[in-house]
Amino acid sequence: MTNPLQVLVTGATGRTGSIVVQKLQLQPEQYVVRGFARSEAKVKQLFGTTEGFYLGDITTRDRLKEALADCDALVILTSAIPQMKAPPEPGQRPEFFYPEGGSPEQVDYQGQVNQIDAAKAAGVKHVVLVGSMGGTNEQHPLNRMANGNILIWKRKAEVYLIDSGLDYTIVRAGGLQDQPGGQRELIVGKDDTMLANPPEGMPTSIPRADVAEIVVQALKLPAARNKAFDVIAKPEGTPGAVVTTNFQALFEQTTPGL
Ligand code: NAP
Repeated sequence: MTNPLQVLVTGATGRTGSIVVQKLQLQPEQYVVRGFARSEAKVKQLFGTTEGFYLGDITTRDRLKEALADCDALVILTSAIPQMKAPPEPGQRPEFFYPEGGSPEQVDYQGQVNQIDAAKAAGVKHVVLVGSMGGTNEQHPLNRMANGNILIWKRKAEVYLIDSGLDYTIVRAGGLQDQPGGQRELIVGKDDTMLANPPEGMPTSIPRADVAEIVVQALKLPAARNKAFDVIAKPEGTPGAVVTTNFQALFEQTTPGL
């Protein structure tokens, strides 16, 4: 018997982060999970207790140090969240802004750098970072949203992680869906080639629950170490699709480096 892995999940009250926490909590022989979140009320609402949770903001470093003490692995699931300005007039496009202190540069770059530095200082061995496809294209609509360049800042943080010397797994998801996991074939790629040429013309999306499962599998399978990849899911019921259950084989198709 080996000791359970001590894992900190940030963005623990987020839509994907909360699924990762729940999945890890279901495997207590393998994982002791801690969550990091900024809203006590949200933690209580989602998990019924604040036990095992650290409350703080990733744009400052103080609480991260405490949360990461004696951790083996860190899962980064924080993200800047754009807000819609007043509802658009009919026929107009909605406009977005990032709240004060919550810009992509502050959250997706500096906030992730803070987490990576704190993990390194704490002796953490492995960081699993969930990012997004699209970061190779400055004109991607998410980059243009509120001129935040969110995918560019996320990609800069990915470079910082790779250069940190820590073991990394970088999961760049396609468009996230609130759908059940474990029902689709997952497809990995790199450098946004699946956005430019979607395989078989399929949508470049993936359920959040599948991304969460990839994170859990990446924590245990060495084939996910020091890899960065894009990932999407074939729509449920696609003829000839084989539901992904062998994550070792999936990770073996991925490669090191950005
Ligand atoms: P989400 O629900 O938006 O969660 C983001 C989390 O970050 C929230 O829990 C939020 O806290 C937390 N957070 C933000 N700023 C913080 C701060 N300063 N300090 C501490 N926590 C902070 O995330 P998601 O939609 O599941 O997405 C997961 C990841 O996949 C993100 O990196 C996202 O960009 C990426 N992704 C998204 C899409 C998409 O289609 N939306 C596509 C591909 C990839 P609160 O809960 O308190 O708000």
